[in-house]
Amino acid sequence: MSSILKDILIRSTTSEVYTRKLIKEKFEVDQPRAHPRPTSAGRWARAVRCHGSRIEPSGLAEPEPGSKLRAQAILTPVSDPTSTTKKRVFTFGKGRSEGNKGMKSLLGGKGANLAEMASIGLSVPPGLTISTEACQEYQQVGKKLPPGLWEEIMQGLKIVEGDMGAFLGDPSRPLLLSVRSGAAISMPGMMDTVLNLGLNDEVVSGLAAKSGERFAYDSFRRFLDMFGDVVMGIPHALFDEKLEDMKSAKGIKLDTDLTASDLKELVEEYKSVYVQGRGEQFPSDPMRQLELAVKAVFDSWDSPRAIKYRSINNITGLKGTAVNIQCMVFGNMGNTSGTGVLFTRNPSTGEKKLYGEFLINAQGEDVVAGIRTPEDIQLMETHLPEAYKELVENCEILERHYKDMMDIEFTVQDQRLWMLQCRTGKRTGKGAVKIATDMVKEGLVDTRQAVKMVEPQHLDQLLHPQFEDVSSYKGSVVAKGLPASPGAAVGQVVFSAEDAEAWHAQGKSAILVRTETSPEDVGGMHAAVGILTARGGMTSHAAVVARGWGKCCVSGCSDIRVNDSEKFVVVEDKVIREGEWISLNGSTGEVILGKQPLAPPAMTGDLETFMAWADEIRRIKVMANADTPEDAQTARNNGAQGIGLCRTEHMFFASDERIRAVRKMIMAVTTEQRKNALDLLLPYQRADFEGIFRAMDGLPVTIRLLDPPLHEFLPEGDLEQIVSELTADTGTTEEEVYARIEKLSEVNPMLGFRGCRLGISYPELSEMQVRAILQAAISLTSQGVTVYPEIMVPLVGTPQELGHQVRLIRAVAKTVFLEMGASVNYKVGTMIEVPRAALVADEIAKEAEFFSFGTNDLTQMTFGYSRDDVGKFLPVYLSKGILQHDPFEVLDQKGVGQLVKMATERGRAARPSLKIGICGEHGGEPSSVAFFAEAGLDYVSCSPFRVPIARLAAAQVVA
Ligand code: PEP
Ligand code: MG
Repeated sequence: MSSILKDILIRSTTSEVYTRKLIKEKFEVDQPRAHPRPTSAGRWARAVRCHGSRIEPSGLAEPEPGSKLRAQAILTPVSDPTSTTKKRVFTFGKGRSEGNKGMKSLLGGKGANLAEMASIGLSVPPGLTISTEACQEYQQVGKKLPPGLWEEIMQGLKIVEGDMGAFLGDPSRPLLLSVRSGAAISMPGMMDTVLNLGLNDEVVSGLAAKSGERFAYDSFRRFLDMFGDVVMGIPHALFDEKLEDMKSAKGIKLDTDLTASDLKELVEEYKSVYVQGRGEQFPSDPMRQLELAVKAVFDSWDSPRAIKYRSINNITGLKGTAVNIQCMVFGNMGNTSGTGVLFTRNPSTGEKKLYGEFLINAQGEDVVAGIRTPEDIQLMETHLPEAYKELVENCEILERHYKDMMDIEFTVQDQRLWMLQCRTGKRTGKGAVKIATDMVKEGLVDTRQAVKMVEPQHLDQLLHPQFEDVSSYKGSVVAKGLPASPGAAVGQVVFSAEDAEAWHAQGKSAILVRTETSPEDVGGMHAAVGILTARGGMTSHAAVVARGWGKCCVSGCSDIRVNDSEKFVVVEDKVIREGEWISLNGSTGEVILGKQPLAPPAMTGDLETFMAWADEIRRIKVMANADTPEDAQTARNNGAQGIGLCRTEHMFFASDERIRAVRKMIMAVTTEQRKNALDLLLPYQRADFEGIFRAMDGLPVTIRLLDPPLHEFLPEGDLEQIVSELTADTGTTEEEVYARIEKLSEVNPMLGFRGCRLGISYPELSEMQVRAILQAAISLTSQGVTVYPEIMVPLVGTPQELGHQVRLIRAVAKTVFLEMGASVNYKVGTMIEVPRAALVADEIAKEAEFFSFGTNDLTQMTFGYSRDDVGKFLPVYLSKGILQHDPFEVLDQKGVGQLVKMATERGRAARPSLKIGICGEHGGEPSSVAFFAEAGLDYVSCSPFRVPIARLAAAQVVA
């Protein structure tokens, strides 16, 4: 063979063509489903730990509600953005506040909710919030407090001091402050906090006289440590060393065993740490302390860990962090004090019962540090009955007010309850559904509000197996890739598709580990319980195929090096060999060593109730992309209202006979040879369509005519072997095979001989498929099945292309109806995948009864990014902010979305009855579904496993 031919062949057959990737994905129809239908017997582990953030006690002198709290006029919450004197400091206290819960972007989540709690009359230690805009200004003016800000802070502080009857730096009436960060989106633990601010030698004596020496000096040493660490950059370890030295010198284990004089001594030692660590004295002026602490919190917005957190979590567009300065209340003032965190309902199960932890005589840090084991929140009733009663009432007030399950932090200072923080609580999928349905039953929310309380990702959790307890395996995570297909998988590592199939046949659970997958691997991918690839993005072959099956997949895991010939994979310094157990978390991308315990998916009665509400609310229909009767059944079980895309080519790989017939058709030189080969395929196709129509009795089924480039049906591997296989399969000579291969090879198959170009060049191909569809439809109608066939022409760019195929389809229908003495109603439509088709949609609509946007190809051709090669530069684009999302995953609303809108308008103008849907991968992505619903499409079509997610997203956009 000529080297040029070889080169062409290699280029065309090794080019990972996306459509080819999809061809064989579902051919093993009789395998047990990777994703069993969820059962109500599913077990749920405690997936959410009680608390994620520290409790920060605040306030010392207890404000006496009503008397010491000065009534105050409510100022305008948000100043006019065009004004040059923007309000930057917002105070709050009992019964009044200058902010509210709607001001998260300006006050941060913590500040907005503190303001809200204060204004609805809950006991919140008085304080002030410096806005996120002030933080932005601080950064803009070169990390300096912008002009006038300090004066505004002082004015706010005066109000707080008035509320408290206590003053910062005043030894006779000492006021201590907490200074806490709080951005509009929670960034737990990423930014700074300083507690007990305001202490110095004079103030601590005053405090000791009022509240006892031990407490005063314990607060002072805590402040010196935290202030030194957070504000002055002196490592916490240096303070800790002093503490540990003292404990061992005194022969004690617990900090609480230190006496007042021990603590006094420790305070002096801590002060010396400042001199050692910074070469300067501890700043004893409380105002200076406050200024430095505010700056430190502002600075922490730009700390490397905060920047990294925002980049990992895709948090963009925020102005900065707010600073909450609040008077301290103390949970460590003896056995009538304490501190705790709770969720108003169980975040894991959704059960309506307070769920949390509580520590008597403690500060929040003690809970976090694990010095003592917190008690169940219910026990607080025995220790502090009055405070507990008020806490329960507050939980009810907050749930009624926020209409959601809340996450609360509180402190009890000498029997009196203080609310330190509230926010809507994070929850598992199971918890979310139960909370939403219960709250409707309780009359707290209506079904429209309830539908918004469950996130699409929550449904993902419910429909895939999950790990019992994600917190327990953290130490065994060895690598992280892309969360390509959610769920959890536990299995033994194999390195080839054949091995995965063989191991599966022996009843073993295999995880297929590949550098990347190709269509040849689909058998093994199907047999494996999970897939891990070193390369490839969220739309790589492995990701798309796995998602279609609902199978767990981690792709693009660049931390691993796969050696499939020697059957091992290297992760950092670890070598994992064939047969070793690993676990994959497809929802986070984590690769975990060993066998982690799994919980099966759970479809509860609540979920069904909830989904029925979503269905009542949504207007856009949800169909499924399904190619086999089994997939069709799964889609139906998941609530699909029909099939929006049946890719006929997938059936060609279902057996050796079929693929042999396909190859004969490809190798055919004359029309007659081709027709003979197609005659062999016809019965197979008809039987497949019958199965699908039967599964979708009463619902529409959209069948697409053949789309991928023909060379994708050729065998892969060594050229000589391919040629000998083809010669044997098709009965042609080697020369003929070579000649045909050369003719079929393409430089860019994605833009080559595919789509309607095939049916126009080889009309007999479309004829066979249309015949099979209509024969199946008539035969099933005669058996009492209600069929709504819709025949779809792919990759149309001009009305003439579609016109050609429409005439062909109608002519075949006429013949089939005559031959069979019966007819069926059917529709003919087209995919809109080529930008030109969108531009001339009005002309195309004259020929089409329906449009289905193929947004995979439309994205490819609009951006000019190959679906196969985008993975090479996409990570760079995402990390440099050139793209915000992978456009093959999340619809590009500004570009591709505009083509969708324009084609919809133009199409409907030409044919008002035009039915319009979308069947690209975006049909199951929530933000894209919302866009399609708002653009007025009639349906979205997505993989059977994403159908519930699309149903929910479609409801949320109109709820
Ligand atoms: C599309 O292009 O969006 C589509 C659904 O077709 P395929 O992915 O099969 O090219
Ligand atoms: Mg396409």
